Amino acid sequence: MKTVAVLGLTGSIGKTTIRASKLFTDKIKITCASCHSNVSNAISICLENNIENLLITSSSPCPEDTSIKIWRSLSEMLDALKPDIVLNAIAGSAGLEASFLALEKAPILALANKESVVLGGKLLFEHAKACNSKIIPVDSEHSAIDELLLQSGKENVSSLIITASGGPFRDRPLEELDDIKPSVAANHPTWNMGPKISIDSSTLANKGLEVIEAHYLFDFEPADIEVVIHPQSVVHSMVRTHSGQIYAQLSKPDMAFPIMRALLWPNVDRQVGQALDFTKLDLSFRALDEKRFPFVPAAFECIKKGASYPIVYNTANEVAVERFCSGSLKYTGIYNLVDKTLQKDWLYTPKSLQDILEVQKNVLEYMRSNT
Ligand code: NDP
Ligand code: MG
Repeated sequence: MKTVAVLGLTGSIGKTTIRASKLFTDKIKITCASCHSNVSNAISICLENNIENLLITSSSPCPEDTSIKIWRSLSEMLDALKPDIVLNAIAGSAGLEASFLALEKAPILALANKESVVLGGKLLFEHAKACNSKIIPVDSEHSAIDELLLQSGKENVSSLIITASGGPFRDRPLEELDDIKPSVAANHPTWNMGPKISIDSSTLANKGLEVIEAHYLFDFEPADIEVVIHPQSVVHSMVRTHSGQIYAQLSKPDMAFPIMRALLWPNVDRQVGQALDFTKLDLSFRALDEKRFPFVPAAFECIKKGASYPIVYNTANEVAVERFCSGSLKYTGIYNLVDKTLQKDWLYTPKSLQDILEVQKNVLEYMRSNT
């Protein structure tokens, strides 16, 4: 029996984890979890699912009469419970410090929080090595690639092919994009996800983050990472071998698959849903239109430039999406704001977690004063 901490219990990934782990009660037990502002929802989920420990990361009060043990420090909770696996499903850059800490406290970090990889870069993987801990990706594309590299042998693979659904606006006339409202942008055609990642999936900033994530996770250079539009989200990603074959991973678009791959690792007996019916599939692929989706070429550029550029890409995008959601920025302004922020020189290479946090602060300050 493996014990699991679920950080971000109240989110889309957190709830899918609860649903999927019910199929494997003989193999995993969720012993602790975290929430931020949705305290009463988190307590209900804990009570329903026999999770005895809850960390509240905001200063929100908590009802005194609950039978759940409430924690206010992640470090203390992990020290006390010593879970075998920490699943980090916190949204956005708020998940960064939890990833560094989880690597110190648990042998496996199941990582949905892609921002940790984009912001942490090489430092995150050096930290994992120093702590003798393993990072297993949960992002569906990276989970697929991780599996495909294992099956094919990394030495036989020449490039990674990341699929992108293209989001809800892949066919919308460009001149109509200016008037897109947040609720429309947050409505993804194939995946059911939290609001921030859904908006990022419509601009393809999410795919840009995933390209950076793939670079650091698998150590492939930008020239060896491809992005292809695949509207049905059934092929989760592919690898191209030196001998010219392409291997793909297919399943229904359900995050239960990559979550359980990470939580049951290295057990392969992890059927979480119905098998695909090939007779009902109608799959299509097309090249990425870089004019429509400039976030993707910008991400490749950030990898090439290195230094603080991936951190700036993520931080500026978070600010831009917040401004879009609050009504102070048009939909097309999201990319323009990130692009403007990236134009400044960000040539400093962080050497520690503290340095990364400092760069983030500098980006926020720059954006407050100049944009
Ligand atoms: P949601 O917005 O649905 O959930 C976010 C979770 O993070 C909630 O539990 C929330 O707590 C918590 N949270 C929010 N702010 C903070 C903070 N400042 N400190 C600590 N915890 C916080 O997000 P998703 O589940 O969609 O995504 C989570 C992560 O997984 C993201 O990094 C995303 O990119 C990644 N991911 C998600 C996929 C999906 O299908 N949803 C697919 C692949 C990757 P509360 O509700 O209590 O405020
Ligand atoms: Mg993904």
